[in-house]
Amino acid sequence: MLKKYEACLKRKKVNHSRAREAIYSIFLDNINCFMSVSELNKKLEEDYPKKVSINTIYRHLNFFVACDLVLLLQDDNKKAYYILVNKEAPVFKICPKCQIVAVEEITDKQQKTLCELVKPTKYQKAPFVVLHKVCERCG
Ligand SMILES: [Zn+2]
Repeated sequence: MLKKYEACLKRKKVNHSRAREAIYSIFLDNINCFMSVSELNKKLEEDYPKKVSINTIYRHLNFFVACDLVLLLQDDNKKAYYILVNKEAPVFKICPKCQIVAVEEITDKQQKTLCELVKPTKYQKAPFVVLHKVCERCG
């Protein structure tokens, strides 16, 4: 994962930034976990000694998304959630009632089939599937 991150810095010709690295390590510590910007900000305040502005956090998040290191998912209220890309064609679910976002667990066989169906394109390098599914709490 860090290799992919380093490759991105090189490709985009950006310098190392401790704040950016701190944010990325939050993603590495929270695999399979969606985080909103405010959740990320809270975790960053716990881990990182300096104050990072929300604008800076957004800038770093946009960089991660542009590099396909992180996926951005918006719920029906346009609230943004971010998650680390750790596999091809991941499947997520959004509850249409409470808008909770989560990772949908699928079998290896299903994953394999999906990888064949959902191929990366020029426009979407890290494609994913979103299911609108009522969660256990609302169902
Ligand atoms: Zn729900």
